[in-house]
Amino acid sequence: RRRALLRASSGPGRTADGVPVALLLNAGEGDPGEAAAHDSEGIGLLRTEFLFLDRAEPPTVAEQTEVYTRLFRAFAGRVVTVRTLDAGSDKPLAFAATGPEDNPALGVRGFRAARVHPGLLTDQLTAIAAAERAADTTGSAARVRVMAPMVSTPAEAAEFADLARSAGIGEVGVMVEVPAAALLADRLLPRVDFVSVGTNDLAQYTMAADRTLGALPDLLDPWQPALLSLVGSTGGAGERLGQPVGVCGEAAADPLLALVLVGLGVTSLSAAPPALPAVRYALARHTHAECRELAELALTAEGPEQAREAVRGAAHPEV
Ligand code: PEP
Ligand code: MG
Repeated sequence: RRRALLRASSGPGRTADGVPVALLLNAGEGDPGEAAAHDSEGIGLLRTEFLFLDRAEPPTVAEQTEVYTRLFRAFAGRVVTVRTLDAGSDKPLAFAATGPEDNPALGVRGFRAARVHPGLLTDQLTAIAAAERAADTTGSAARVRVMAPMVSTPAEAAEFADLARSAGIGEVGVMVEVPAAALLADRLLPRVDFVSVGTNDLAQYTMAADRTLGALPDLLDPWQPALLSLVGSTGGAGERLGQPVGVCGEAAADPLLALVLVGLGVTSLSAAPPALPAVRYALARHTHAECRELAELALTAEGPEQAREAVRGAAHPEV
């Protein structure tokens, strides 16, 4: 029965009482154009570093424009959230190297790489804006948004927003994946149009546990109440300011945890394509108020196991 219900669940994400929660895709590996065939409201995270792996030289503006134009046409009428290059640490790019570092996860990675290679970022923003215009001329443009990874301060958010807007991009955001950004979400949000929480890195930096290590899975568990608390401070800031707060880390792929995230103020969820039907179904079975109650249970639990069990016990049994 559950399988039949899952198959029947399609279309935009909504809670049982009709609150919209956009269901988006994480893309970048493989042909991102293929992602268009999935039932989603668009792309919530395009990991552009995967488009240009194994390259010695940076892609030219023309080359990038072509890739993005194709993608924006494939997603006509839907949102496409392009994340600027997240090079460094677990995703090294030869053409964007920032020198040897003893602690690359704490180094010159993500948006910080623009300190060393400002041209890489401005070229990418130029290409994204040009692709949006090119797709537009055929009347088949996506709603294009850009966001920067590894932003830590409101000043960095403002700096990125200025760069993206002067390149001609209309909708600008940043990722919240460093605890500092979550803690000052109410000061960071006014600098941008939206934020998206990256729970993979936010878990790593909140728990001081290397995400590539494999030896500390309990600490990196996205049900850790401390991580959820930071998602909650970001979501709460978004609600107070009336701005969208997404989640694009792996946490969004867990249907029970997705309910908790929505209860914490998250307004869109982005995950790998196979995860979306179960998340859509879970949302459709719970009102927004119920999601809030589940969030409270998770936040006040002693640890991740207790949080998961408490929410599983209180959620609809078919989720
Ligand atoms: C994250 O950190 O949660 C995220 C979505 O980005 P990535 O996994 O690409 O670092
Ligand atoms: Mg990240």
